[in-house]
Amino acid sequence: MSETLFDKIIRREIPADIVHEDEHVLGFRDINPQAPVHVLFIPKKPIATLNDLEHADMLLAGRLMKAAADFAKREGFDEAGYRVVMNTNRDGGQSVYHIHLHLLAGRQMTWPPG
Ligand code: 5GP
Repeated sequence: MSETLFDKIIRREIPADIVHEDEHVLGFRDINPQAPVHVLFIPKKPIATLNDLEHADMLLAGRLMKAAADFAKREGFDEAGYRVVMNTNRDGGQSVYHIHLHLLAGRQMTWPPG
């Protein structure tokens, strides 16, 4: 797959407000936040869309979820609540083709999401 700007963020070639890093996952604040808290959790391994997730990536997908939940707990909004979203392809509203889990918090979310 071709490179995205998230690869540049992983390599620190583009600045980002990084809130989490481990061997497999990077978490950083969205440049255009849609809620008081808006963080993106990405695998360091580039995977274009959720459709490209392979069986061997299942643990990695869980790591994104766990990093988001740990961040919520650490920041103290786990009980109040939050939303995680992974937009996929055109109809899902995906604009960067390196999978990322959006974590949104700090306001009442609405449903349907639009
Ligand atoms: P998508 O639309 O693919 O689900 O989400 C991509 C997200 O990446 C958007 O919410 C957008 O604001 C964010 N984004 C795009 N470019 C940058 C950037 O250079 N830095 C950061 N931190 N976020 C970005």
